[in-house]
Amino acid sequence: MPEILDHARSQVLDGGVGLDEAGVLAVLRLPDEDVPAALQLAHEVRMRWCGPEVEVEGIVSLKTGGCPEDCHFCSQSGLFASPVRSVWLDIPSLVEAAKQTAATGATEFCIVAAVRGPDARLMKQMREGVAAIKAEVDIQVAASLGMLSQEQVDELVDMGVHRYNHNLETCRSYFPNVVTTHSWEERWETLTMVRASGMEVCCGGILGLGETIEQRAEFAAQLSELDPHEVPLNFLNPRPGTPLGDRPVVEARDALRAIAAFRLAMPRTILRYAGGREITLGDLGTRDGLLGGINAVIVGNYLTTLGRPATDDLALLEDLKMPVKALSATL
Ligand code: SF4
Repeated sequence: MPEILDHARSQVLDGGVGLDEAGVLAVLRLPDEDVPAALQLAHEVRMRWCGPEVEVEGIVSLKTGGCPEDCHFCSQSGLFASPVRSVWLDIPSLVEAAKQTAATGATEFCIVAAVRGPDARLMKQMREGVAAIKAEVDIQVAASLGMLSQEQVDELVDMGVHRYNHNLETCRSYFPNVVTTHSWEERWETLTMVRASGMEVCCGGILGLGETIEQRAEFAAQLSELDPHEVPLNFLNPRPGTPLGDRPVVEARDALRAIAAFRLAMPRTILRYAGGREITLGDLGTRDGLLGGINAVIVGNYLTTLGRPATDDLALLEDLKMPVKALSATL
């Protein structure tokens, strides 16, 4: 057993204290033959500190495409030649999407908009949309609307939005290579306000943007410092027309190493598979991830690329004897 895994067994599994940056880096550098042991330990950590439940979440895009920002991985930026055009969803469609999501057994419904931050029109849509969902559907509502002002944070709390997603995307030192229209610090500021408001913080990022292994470890350490309730872990799905459209996908082994390392950095967080997992991991990898520290999945369509059908994921969870977290357990 490599020394870092022995160390993680006592500190993380027994003590519930996550690995620091150097520890994460050591896990990311483990040779291939030690990856199964790292995943096994990450799974034990998840079972001990989070339990066997898996949180199932649905996502809907209230406003798609036409974003003024230049995140180099994102096909929703209006600055690249990517095929996603600006589209708004109406309130009845939003409620219908929430109903369909709840019907899968999901407890979380996240409303997403491709914007720098919400304007008055979007906040009005949110107020009406969240109220309509709450009147008709038994599901928790989360939101992802970019950078917020303090007033907007307060308004979302008032609407009853219980969790806010805002990804740091990558570590502080690499961020300027990926986004030039706003800073990592601006994102951090929104996250700080969200946390202080009492909303749950959902914050993760994308691996495979060209960052080094050291920068992956830096990112895990920065996320641990933020201590989010949930961390969505994406692997770059290179979108044609974006500046990162030609980047190679993360190799399955490296993705699994990262899943284990991020779990060992954050023993108590909800660690969620997000976009890009099909191309990086495939069916087998999805199973390996769920047995290696992951404890949340998104059902249905991702924002701009098709995910696996909900039934496949739910069948896999049943097969693995991992119960879907019930709504009552999250209230
Ligand atoms: S990641 Fe968000 S802020 Fe960046 S371009 Fe895409 S939609 Fe806009």
